[in-house]
Amino acid sequence: MRLLIFGPPGVGKGTQAKLLSEEFGIPHISTGDTLRKAVSEGTELGKQAKAIMDSGRLVPDGIMIGIAREVLTAPATARGFILDGFPRTIAQAEALNEMFDQLGFTDVRVVVLEVNDDEIVRRLSSRYVCSTDGKIYNALIDKVTLSTPCPQCGGKLIQRDDDKESTIRERLRVYHSQTAPIIRYYSERGATIKVDGGRSVEEVNRQIRQQLGTVNA
Ligand code: AMP
Repeated sequence: MRLLIFGPPGVGKGTQAKLLSEEFGIPHISTGDTLRKAVSEGTELGKQAKAIMDSGRLVPDGIMIGIAREVLTAPATARGFILDGFPRTIAQAEALNEMFDQLGFTDVRVVVLEVNDDEIVRRLSSRYVCSTDGKIYNALIDKVTLSTPCPQCGGKLIQRDDDKESTIRERLRVYHSQTAPIIRYYSERGATIKVDGGRSVEEVNRQIRQQLGTVNA
């Protein structure tokens, strides 16, 4: 199974990709996670990416296409993958098509999670992440604060630098102007699976698998 998962920041792509990755036994590749790891390790890539990410803008295509090429030609993704956060621009989508042609990947499915902007701002500005195990919490639903230890491992909860409201608005603007056209591009070329991302995690997962044909209605 080869999947691309799209949707605005905070719609739950990462959560759904992780579930699907476990269910199908294929790796979840998040370009945002790759960049955050580079930032926390202080690598050259991380140094270049940090300020761009904090402002809500996109890291240059050349860098991102290089990362995607490295991941997709690695043995770990030979049998399948879920790509989350890439492509985000038409140039990235075109480069990805070329990679798929070269690698002979013809069975790629596209999942789109949809939710409105106000809901995204509400969700992201109350999203906290455990700095130890990476588990994501919602302050409103999980009743945690930045001084509550991670309910799972006791680690420190933090707010991502790009989950501040002004940055969220910029990330949404970038999403609508640069990434939404790619979804139209894939929709015009074949089966794009669209799911209401406003539903519960379990329901969204069920609907994705139903539309992929891996679960009965
Ligand atoms: P995400 O976790 O997918 O929301 O990504 C966080 C940030 O990483 C984005 O706001 C961008 O600054 C950067 N980023 C991740 N993936 C890409 C990409 N494919 N192209 C450009 N920038 C990216």
